[in-house]
Amino acid sequence: MNKKVILRFPEKQFNHPVMSSLTKEFGVLFNILKADINAENNRGTLIVEFIGESEQIADSEKRLKELGIKTEPLSQEIKRIEDNCTHCSACTVHCPTGALSVPDRKTMIVEFEASKCIACGNCAVVCPYKAMQVKF
Ligand code: SF4
Ligand code: SF4
Repeated sequence: MNKKVILRFPEKQFNHPVMSSLTKEFGVLFNILKADINAENNRGTLIVEFIGESEQIADSEKRLKELGIKTEPLSQEIKRIEDNCTHCSACTVHCPTGALSVPDRKTMIVEFEASKCIACGNCAVVCPYKAMQVKF
């Protein structure tokens, strides 16, 4: 399975090779989808996709918690405000993963698949109606 999460690193873990230690200890693999490093206050935020068995991912998340690293499911941070979306489709060409797409050319409804989203933030920038909220 895979699971996308946001990791918020506190100052005390900033310089530690936490992610590679999870691979070593639990065998879980990961892709870093986005990194926001604030060197001034020694804090960082990563969007990571864990790849592995559910037990490996659960053990990894448990260890992160023990280390004081907050994990949040990515899907909680990306939202479309349905009432604001006019299905203008302006966002779809800027979405690098196909999370925003028009699968049916007859209805021209823009669908949002949160599971494909990597929180790049492009849609929030280009949407003229402020329908996409990306908190990161
Ligand atoms: S750009 Fe905004 S209003 Fe247009 S389809 Fe995308 S989310 Fe909806
Ligand atoms: S943040 Fe928006 S543009 Fe980026 S991957 Fe997610 S849905 Fe697509």
